[in-house]
Amino acid sequence: MTPEQFRQHGHEVVDWIADYWSRIGDFPVRSQVSPGEVRATLPAEAPEQGEPFSAVLADLDRIVLPGTTHWQHPGFFGYFPANTSGPSVLGDLVSAGLGVQGMSWVTSPAATELEQHLMDWVADLLGLPASFRSTGTGGGVVQDSSSGANLVALLAALHRASRGGTVRHGVEPDRATVYVSSQTHSSMEKAVRIAGLGSDAVRIVEVDGDLAMRPAALAARLERDIARGYTPVLVCATVGTTSTTAIDPLAELGPICQKYGVWLHVDAAYAGVSALVPELRELQAGVEWADSYTTDAHKWLLTGFDATLFWVADRVALTGALAILPDYLRNAATDAGTVVDFRDWQIPLGRRFRALKLWFVLRWYGAEGLRSHIRAHVAMAQQLAGWAAADERFDVVAPHPLSLVCLRPRWADEVDADVATMTLLERLNDGGEVFLTHTTVEGQAVLRIAVGSPTTTPAHVERVWTLLRESFDWLAADFAAAAAE
Ligand code: PLP
Repeated sequence: MTPEQFRQHGHEVVDWIADYWSRIGDFPVRSQVSPGEVRATLPAEAPEQGEPFSAVLADLDRIVLPGTTHWQHPGFFGYFPANTSGPSVLGDLVSAGLGVQGMSWVTSPAATELEQHLMDWVADLLGLPASFRSTGTGGGVVQDSSSGANLVALLAALHRASRGGTVRHGVEPDRATVYVSSQTHSSMEKAVRIAGLGSDAVRIVEVDGDLAMRPAALAARLERDIARGYTPVLVCATVGTTSTTAIDPLAELGPICQKYGVWLHVDAAYAGVSALVPELRELQAGVEWADSYTTDAHKWLLTGFDATLFWVADRVALTGALAILPDYLRNAATDAGTVVDFRDWQIPLGRRFRALKLWFVLRWYGAEGLRSHIRAHVAMAQQLAGWAAADERFDVVAPHPLSLVCLRPRWADEVDADVATMTLLERLNDGGEVFLTHTTVEGQAVLRIAVGSPTTTPAHVERVWTLLRESFDWLAADFAAAAAE
């Protein structure tokens, strides 16, 4: 493809995306294809000869769109959002166009220095501790995912706990322990497995009635493990759990971690970016105790996947665990020790210029624009929670400090509540106007309504509330009729 052909077809692709965004609300939110349906439309063999670009574009409409669940749809209330935006897509396009590999400073200085600078900006905007700045003892780096960041944090913590021994001897899998709660994201347990520790290294600390980790329970477990000869390595505290956005009390957990010399990792994958808004920052009070912190710009900050923002307070612990310098990567700047090589801050060697899309986003919206985006979603979620709290058909389950509301429908006693709730969920999702997901709280199925799509307005939240009540009434009547038979 020549630059001129690229220009022509690039315009067509941008037009295609703009048209898609203009009509996104017309699609059913959840893809309606059955398993195997997308593959069945694809030829058995890869094309032997090149094809006109128009054929590829036509197949986007014919094959890809029907098999797409529309995460940017205003009726998308499932999981956590995966925001994207115009500036993010354009930043990503430039990154793809430059096609640089930012593994070392020398392989493209702008890729490293822009990222360092941006991570300092965002640390300031989120009110993160000074130690997380590149000008302090730590620094920030863009990772591929919070799952990856959780693994990297664990590797750094293992390295510190073994005083550098992991590089010489690997980890001692039988003695290291990692502390989570029942609400911690599963990626932490996966990280434990990948690090070679085994699932019995995971200690599950009790939670309180708000599903937040209990500090006294953590302290008791640490005491007991140390007395039995274990080496506590890392505590994973969550700000905004996946299930209900519960918040572990960092200000109380931090001093405990410090007392026992355990690395405190804060997983704020979804909720961390809310600290842009001063009135929400209190939710992560105590963040200054953290040794590492992760939040995803690719969830709620208008920046397309992948853009995990990860900081450490002590960069030497991280690079000590991950740095490796084969001869073919040696260069004067690295040897002089005057630059950061981000390959030493992550699992893979290669890395995309991901900072560009976040830079575009920050410059287009400004911090104030991003704050408005978050404030609007929180306000809509609080409105929904208020309606539900006042309605006898639903219980609001768990605190809802941000933009996720969890509702348990109140079914009649003779109805199997979990089956009924899941039937309600399927009915809503089959309708195509909205998409919600579920979780389990205290052993019972609960509906999760995560307000966070860039296109969602108060009218869409009103609509999901109407649909919830209509579906409840319809199903409750059905169950009552069945019981009467
Ligand atoms: N941690 C928490 C608290 C999450 O909610 C999630 C995903 O929802 C993750 C980690 C994993 O995020 P990622 O998809 O960036 O790996």
